[in-house]
Amino acid sequence: MTINFRQMILHPKDADFSIESSDLLAILAQLGLTGARLDTHLVTSGEQQFLVGEHFLQHISFMGCAPAIEFAPEQGGDLSDIAKLQQFIFVHVPEPADTPRWLADLDMAKPICPACNKRFARWSEYIDKANMTCPHCRESSLQCDFGWREFGGCAKTMVSIVNAYPKETIPSGNLLSQLAKLTDVEWDYFYFNGPLP
Ligand SMILES: [Zn+2]
Repeated sequence: MTINFRQMILHPKDADFSIESSDLLAILAQLGLTGARLDTHLVTSGEQQFLVGEHFLQHISFMGCAPAIEFAPEQGGDLSDIAKLQQFIFVHVPEPADTPRWLADLDMAKPICPACNKRFARWSEYIDKANMTCPHCRESSLQCDFGWREFGGCAKTMVSIVNAYPKETIPSGNLLSQLAKLTDVEWDYFYFNGPLP
């Protein structure tokens, strides 16, 4: 069964950039973005999950009329219950991938073709394995080469803020620059509604 989560995914702008998982986890803990480890039973291999850390709210802003946001599971909550896992913010860190992993929000993303610079919707029907054919110019390009703006991207390294909604959840400029300083690569983010990466 595939379970979708609303996520904000932080990632290096350089899709090929990779970092040892232990080094990345140390950086996230040092920044206070991640706190105690969380055992949700959704972890199947090398990925790890954490409660938000002590400086989380200095790094991530919540705007607008977001409903009451929870930062921890309710007392005695059973984390094998998926509905409970969709009620509080946590941090999911997938194991670094060997090749850049592409994610895009099926409903929200309107990719920009690298050949003709035109945007289009309902892109899932133009996918062929790692490629996609532009309905405007008929050029086939790698999915990673399309412009996904704030609703998709490609990276080997990702950090997912889970149960975070588009436009309501925003990383601070300071967080992005701290990540850049500590990893020597620029960082960006996008929103995604789908399975945990
Ligand atoms: Zn095109």
